[in-house]
Parts: sequence; structure tokens; C-alpha cells
Amino acid sequence: PAGGAGAPKRIILAEPRGFCAGVRRAIAIVERALEVYGPPVYVRKEIVHNHFVVRSLESRGARFVDSETDVPEGAVCVFSAHGVSPAVRSSAAGRGLEVIDATCPLVAKVHQEARRFARDGRTILLIGHADHEEVEGTYGEAPDRTVIVESVQDVAALDLPRDTPAAYLTQTTLSLDDTRGIVDALRARFDDLVGPASDDICYASQNRQNAIKAVAARSDLVLVVGSTNSSNSIRMVEVARGAGVPAHLVPDVGELDEDWLDGVRAVGVSAGASAPEILVDQLLDRLAELGYTEIDLETTATENVVFNIPAGLAAGSVKSR
Ligand code: SF4
Repeated sequence: PAGGAGAPKRIILAEPRGFCAGVRRAIAIVERALEVYGPPVYVRKEIVHNHFVVRSLESRGARFVDSETDVPEGAVCVFSAHGVSPAVRSSAAGRGLEVIDATCPLVAKVHQEARRFARDGRTILLIGHADHEEVEGTYGEAPDRTVIVESVQDVAALDLPRDTPAAYLTQTTLSLDDTRGIVDALRARFDDLVGPASDDICYASQNRQNAIKAVAARSDLVLVVGSTNSSNSIRMVEVARGAGVPAHLVPDVGELDEDWLDGVRAVGVSAGASAPEILVDQLLDRLAELGYTEIDLETTATENVVFNIPAGLAAGSVKSR
């Protein structure tokens, strides 16, 4: 699709790409907590799913732990952007931790809906990946009445009567395309199914997937900067492949396989919502060395969403412990 053999080799760069408002806020919270409290600041799980971000915060005094039970009693503990279950909150309270919550507001909204549906006595069908931290957290709002569905096949296998009062919720990093088939199957399966007030798919995931589709249409190969545990980055690769173009995840420039570029005249580039722009710059520099000297921006949306950090942290006072 990229023009004849004589055309210059070029990069089709997706816009928007990279950091979303929830990731920016989560990183800013850890940075600010380090300033306010001084190191170490404990962070439960990767603050966002990007190894470069985690390593750079680590070098400034953040300590990443798998569980709140790994945090010394009374210490400062940041909850990651993906959210936590009520069980984690009470375990942290039991240890006297000073909790700073970096849960993305869009994830917090899904938790709120889960609580409302549970209060209304509905069975919650949570569309998402069972092993993803966000889904673990949302599931934990009402574990007795939540079932995770990952596919249309899972819907067919549900052992619930047709007249079950049901509600569905979705993992924020899926796209409308991802969930449409499952929601349709749920509608056909249950007589009394309700959904969230507005859909839970976050603007950033949808925008990045729309952009990658437009980029793929103009590219011979698509590269997505993002970590291997980043759900939305992996989805972007899948969306590009779904458009019929070879696509790869590039966690960092060292993992670019030059064989992928054989015969490629136009290479599409984007980055997942947790991938910092510096990693994109490094990839663009490497591609320029390999002859991809022209950059065409493919802009499909303009984003100006900002989520503020908690007021207590923004205030500027230096706390002592
Ligand atoms: Fe929030 Fe969406 Fe970013 Fe996830 S991808 S942190 S839901 S803005």
C-alpha cells in the first residue's frame, strides 16, 4: 500500500499514541509522593504496565511490591492505575498504611457501577481478561455475584437461568469492536440485562485503536511500542494484524528485528497508553538510521483529557513520617 519501489522509505506515525490521562496522573502521583514524603515510597504492582517507567521511578526511590502485605506497617503505599479490590483496601488499612490511590478515574467508575449492580441484586458479567489486574480489582467488588467472560464461547457456557437479573461491565482497555460480539451474545442469552450508564471503554484505548487502523491502512508493517504485559498495547498489535498488516510489539528499540523491515517501504509506528514518548523517539532514530527518514503524521483524534492528582498531594506541603 505504500507506493512504488522508487518512493522514499517513510514512517507513518499514529496520533494520538502513548500516554493517556490515567497513566500521566498515576506517574505524577508517584513522583509527587516521592517529593512530599521522601523515599522510599511503596507502590503496589507496576504503577502502569511499562518496564521503563517502573525502572525510572525505582531509580528515584519508589519500591514496587506485589502485595500490600509486602509493605512495612505504617509506610506510604500507592495503589496502581489499574485499581484494587475492597479486600486489598482493608488489608492495607489493617497494616496502617498511608494509602495514595492512583487508580484511574475511568477504572474507579467501573468499580462504582459494579457496586451499584451488586446492590441491585444483579449478577455481573465482567467482560475482560481474568488475569489482568484491572479485572481482578473490579471482580473483587462483588466476587459472589460476578462472572468473568472473555469470549462469546464463555457466554454460551454460562450456567445461569435466562431470567437471571444480569448486568455487564467491561475492562476499560478493550475497544467497542472487542466487546460488541460478547455484549450481543449476552443480550441474546438474558431477558433482563442492563449495561453501564455510558460504555466503559476508555477514550484513550478507543482512540489508539482507531489511529492504528488508519496507520495500518497506509503501512507495510506496524510497530507498537509497549511492554509485553500491556493489555492495550497488545490489542493495538492485534488490531493492526486484523487489518491484514504484519505487526509487532517493540518493548524497546533493542528488540527491533531488522528482518521485519525486509521490503518494507512504509512502517507504521504507535505506542500503547503506558509507553513513554522517549521510547518512541529511540525507535524513530533507529528507523532513520535504517533509511526511514520521512515521517507522516496520521492524526485521527485530538486529546485534551487531564486527570488531576489528589488534592492532598498537590497542595505542596512536605510531610514527615
Ligand atoms: Fe485510564 Fe484509559 Fe489510561 Fe487505562 S488506558 S489508565 S482506563 S485513561
